[in-house]
Amino acid sequence: MAFERDNIARLHAYLPGEQPDYTQTGSVLKLNTNENPYPPSPNVMDAIRGLTPEALRLYPPADAVRFRRAAADLHGLTPGQVIATNGGDELLRLLVTVFCAPRNGAAAGIGMTAPSYTLYSVLADIQDTPITIVERGEGFALPDDYADRLNAAGCRLAFLVNPHAPTGRFETVARVREMARTFRGVFVVDEAYADFAPGDALGLLRGDDALPNVVILRSLSKGYGLAGLRFGYGLADAGLIATLDKARDSYNTDILSQVAAVAALEDQAYFQETCAKVIAERDRLTQALRKRGFDVPESYANFVLAAAPPGGPAAEAIYQHLKANRILIRYFNQPRLEDKLRITVGTPQQNDALLAQLDALVPAA
Ligand SMILES: *Cc1c(COP(=O)(O)O)cnc(C)c1O
Repeated sequence: MAFERDNIARLHAYLPGEQPDYTQTGSVLKLNTNENPYPPSPNVMDAIRGLTPEALRLYPPADAVRFRRAAADLHGLTPGQVIATNGGDELLRLLVTVFCAPRNGAAAGIGMTAPSYTLYSVLADIQDTPITIVERGEGFALPDDYADRLNAAGCRLAFLVNPHAPTGRFETVARVREMARTFRGVFVVDEAYADFAPGDALGLLRGDDALPNVVILRSLSKGYGLAGLRFGYGLADAGLIATLDKARDSYNTDILSQVAAVAALEDQAYFQETCAKVIAERDRLTQALRKRGFDVPESYANFVLAAAPPGGPAAEAIYQHLKANRILIRYFNQPRLEDKLRITVGTPQQNDALLAQLDALVPAA
């Protein structure tokens, strides 16, 4: 007999991209999970090495106050507007548990677009809260009536990933503001990829017309090269952050990650430089793939979504061929994505290695 709740018995768990043993990744080119190809700032390693055994003997600061001050200073907000979490993913889980009741509860579920980050729906299924899915339009455009449709369905929490995963599309802050104003619940702008984009939604949290229902998610996994650290944060109205804080695990971020995250945020020069290198390579990779017949929309993230050239090998066959040659990219066997490949932007050398392997299969025009 099963001990778990029925919805957990039915649950399809989130499927992460393949992660080879890190001690062996030297032999695999990993362009499948949107990690930064550059290591974190050297100051991060210094901060970790600078910790004393005493720091490990004691519980970490439960309120991560040094990190929250650093993030507030960086973004022109107050520490009360910041919550630190164990990766952006923990923030997503916290949002679903705080704002969405299980079925039959008073507050109904989440709204999201399709395609989008599949973790949103997995977290909703764990909470057993309803999911409203709005299909993206032609070219994966965000429908104008997104917020209206979620209101009509009674959603309490809306997700908008911007830049969009897995296409890299970018919505202007004016458009995001309009949707957040229209939506009657909490509107989450998932900015995991904002480090590579031409703008962000921070303005929605500042000044007299700040929106009290907006939560911005940030992650140190992509732009800061710290996916292994597990550190992310949320930005919102101070009242909303206080509500989230009530439901947070007391010691959700450990001392190693807190000191490392502060050091990463404080080295903005290094951060800007590595992000600029990734952006330059993203644009070069886009052009190189287009030359080879792939259809690649402009991306504002650290990956591109490339549709396989018509008449050539199918996307899945290309994925398998690269994997056999120790290059990992991401293939999603899902409606509207089954003819496409999501490729994380690497260093110039890594991208050249990818292109050379592709040339063996799909010659340049
Ligand atoms: C990477 C990512 C996150 C956060 O990831 P963490 O590693 O948990 O910080 C959130 N949303 C999207 C869409 C992402 O790609």
